[in-house]
Formats: sequence, C-alpha cells, structure tokens
Amino acid sequence: MSTGFQTSEPRTRIVVTIGPACDSAAQLLQLIEAGAGVLRLNMSHGSLETHQATMVRIRQVEAECGIPIAIMVDLPGPKIRLAGEVPEMIETGSEVTIIGPDDPAVVDPDVLSIDVRGVLSAVKVGHRILIDDGNIRLLAIAADEIGGRARVRCVVTSGGCLRARNGVNVPDSDPDLPAVTDRDLELAHAMTKAGADYLAVSFCRDGDDLRRLRAAVAGDVSQDGIAPGIVAKVERPAAVANLTDVVAASDAVLVARGDLGVEMDIAEVPVVQKRIIAAAMSAGRPVIVATQMLQSMIEAASPTRAEATDVANAILDGTDALMLSGETAIGRHPPLAVEMLRRISVCTEAWMDEREEPEAATRTLVEMVDPWMPAIARGARRIASDLGAVAVLAWSRDEYTACLLSRERFRVPIFVFTDDVRLARRMRLLRGVRPVVTSAITTRQEFLRTAALVAMADGVARTGDACVFVHGSGRSEERPTDAIGVLRIGDEPGSSI
Ligand code: PEP
Repeated sequence: MSTGFQTSEPRTRIVVTIGPACDSAAQLLQLIEAGAGVLRLNMSHGSLETHQATMVRIRQVEAECGIPIAIMVDLPGPKIRLAGEVPEMIETGSEVTIIGPDDPAVVDPDVLSIDVRGVLSAVKVGHRILIDDGNIRLLAIAADEIGGRARVRCVVTSGGCLRARNGVNVPDSDPDLPAVTDRDLELAHAMTKAGADYLAVSFCRDGDDLRRLRAAVAGDVSQDGIAPGIVAKVERPAAVANLTDVVAASDAVLVARGDLGVEMDIAEVPVVQKRIIAAAMSAGRPVIVATQMLQSMIEAASPTRAEATDVANAILDGTDALMLSGETAIGRHPPLAVEMLRRISVCTEAWMDEREEPEAATRTLVEMVDPWMPAIARGARRIASDLGAVAVLAWSRDEYTACLLSRERFRVPIFVFTDDVRLARRMRLLRGVRPVVTSAITTRQEFLRTAALVAMADGVARTGDACVFVHGSGRSEERPTDAIGVLRIGDEPGSSI
C-alpha cells in the first residue's frame, strides 16, 4: 500500500486554478500527476453549473488516482469589474467618464461602466482608478452626482488595451463594501452542499468577515459532515492591518499578491508576503502564496529567471503552498507549469536541507493558546532531528495535529493516517504532509504496522530506519494526540522482517 506520492515528493504543496485550458478529465489527471493537490475553482469566472460539473469530474479523477484532492472554491467578493462593452484601447492623456450599474448602459468609447454599486460615490478628485491590476491607470478630475447617480470624470495617466470584465481597483477611496456579498452567499451555500473543502473569502477586512461566512454555511453541512475550511485572502490594506484577527478567524491564509499590489504600494508586497507567512505560521495556519508565480508561462514553455527565483523565495519564506492562476486556467502549458513548481521546490528544499536546521521558533500564538500539541510537535521534531529519522507517522482524526506537525517544517515526510477522506483532502494544503485514508486501523499495533508498510512502499523508509510516531490514546477528546514514540522499521508488532 503506497500513498500515491512520489518517493522524491517535494514538501511544498501546489494549488492549481482550473479553467478552460485544463478542465477535462484527462487534463485534470495530468495536473494531479504533475503534483497538484488542491484545485481552485475561481467563481469570478464561469457559471455555478459549470463549476459544479467540474467538481463532479474532479471527484471522478480523484477516485481513479486514489490520492485525496482538495477543492478550494474562491468566492468573487466585492471585486469591481468593467461592465458591458468596452473599447479595445484607451490612450494616455485622453479623458473618460466612469458610470455605475444604475446608469443606463451606453456604447461610447469615452464612457466606462463598472458593475458594483456604492463605489463611485467614494471616489474624490485626485483619487486613482486602476484597471487590469494597475496596467491601466486613471486619475479622477471631477466627481458629480446626477439624479442620485455618481459619475467620475478621469484623465488616463497610463493607457492600454481593455478587455471585457477587466478588474477595477480604487485604492484611495475605500468604499464600504461587505467582503461577503449576496452572490457570494448563494455560491457558498451551493458549493458547500456540493462538497467544497475550502471556501476562500476575497477582500476580507477583518476576522468578522470570515466568521460571518463560517456561520452562514454551518447549516449546509450534514450531521456527520465537515464544514469547509475558510481561507482568508489577504488583498486589502485593512486585512493587513487586522492580520492577527484575520489569521485567527481563518483555517488557511492566501497571500493574494494580484490585488495587494494595486490596493497597496507594490513596493511593500514582498515584505507584506513575509509578514503574512510569519503570522500564519505563528498561529498554526497553512499559507498559500499566489499570483504571477510563473506568469510568463501563460504563453512560454519555461519561466523567467525572476519568476523561478520568486517561487524559491516564497518557499524559503516558509509558505506551505504555491498557487497558479492564469498559468493553468487559461495558459498554454498547464502541466508544465505545475511540473516547474515541483522542480523548483525539489531544488530549493534540497538546498534548505543541506543547511543547519534553524532553531525552532520561540513561543508563538498557538503555544499561548494551548502549549500541548505544539510541545508534542516540537518534541517530535527534536527526536527526528537527533535520531536522523526518515519519516514522521501520525494517526489522527484531528486536523490540528497535522497542522502543527506541518508547522515544524520537518525535512522528512509526515504520513498522517486518518479514516476521513474529507480531512485527508484538507491536508493537501499542509507542507510536508502525505495524508493516507484508511479505515483499517483500530489499534496502535495496526497503526505502526500499516505506517511502516506505507513508508516502505513510498520508498521513504527501509529496515532499521527510525521513524517518530504520534497518536492519541483516546483518553482525552480535548487533546486528541497524547502519545509520542520512536519506531525502528522491522520492530513493529507483527513484522516478519
Ligand atoms: C489575487 O488578487 O492575487 C488573487 C488570487 O485573487 P483573484 O485571482 O481572485 O483576483
């Protein structure tokens, strides 16, 4: 029995956005075989029905390849977009008027319409309006209200080509837009019922935005079900300012560099990325770095040197996962892009492993809440390091155990045995974790026997190798993992080696 992971599987995890370039069953299989563990459905594009059909296909492919796959449903949030027909191009120095959704649509190359109410009334003279992630830049020179409808006249400070439904940002204006819109709620209910493993909240401002969504979908989960994990997309200055609260209210955090780079000064993005990763690790939450990781691979068959270096630096920063967006959704080489992330991860992790092990972090947020599981995870790390253990083996129905083991950033694989496929899927986001779904384990002896077989079948362990193991004795519901030990492969109960 092997896990389906390759022997040399990198520890860094890969999130892949599904779109027209990769959504057939055969293409999904290629992506999974190339290393994708979490598949993202971006609800900003496509219909609910199309995404639900993709979800069914993903589950079929998952069953075929026997490896748990998480589905992350990314809710659009109050993303502002151009509405209706747009001119192909706007020239630098020209003037345009921006109108809202309550104005009647007009076909006029000097007028652009946006699709969200309540935005233009917050735009004042001197504010910037950015289109297509800031590639096109406008400056407001007059703001009027006609019949209760706000309109903004702008000069184009940097022109370019427009596309229908281009994104729009108003970084100086801060309109009061709720992070979870009525449309998001509709999508969240439908996709939770369809079996989403994660729901990603775009443009959250604070923890309450996440708590509201969590409460809203609680009723969509069946009695024995598991609610989807809530992913905080950090892409607004408000979310950065409230980072501790946002991280605490989430199950995972996403560094959404696309919108961050227009909502904030782009020069701050590299440092903000490091701060978000550190905050997530401190709180024991997995973190994903996203957007433009291999942007040039939308067209080209290999990335730029700068992109490859950016990917490696995100791994060195400590991220759990890397995310591809356009590279896979609309790109020309989706499996190649996944393979490239994998190869950079292998090289970067090998270099990290050659260096002296960094000192474990001092007390962080999770220790302050309850030092129990962090102490077990840290103990496991110390033992693994001192004994040169080749794997960590965990038997757990508890996602938190996997999260905290992952947080220790072991250099060796962490096999987590669970009887719940939904938990196993969620673990595909955790750095270094190889979830194994099995209902066959009921005793510690069975756990050790199975774990030894799996670690050997994966090519990770051989007779005589040491592995650190953790599991629960069943004595405490509150602290489900309370036992730690060392197994020498060949000494497990019932071994005939
Ligand atoms: C981002 O802004 O980086 C991001 C991931 O969000 P979206 O793709 O929804 O714009």
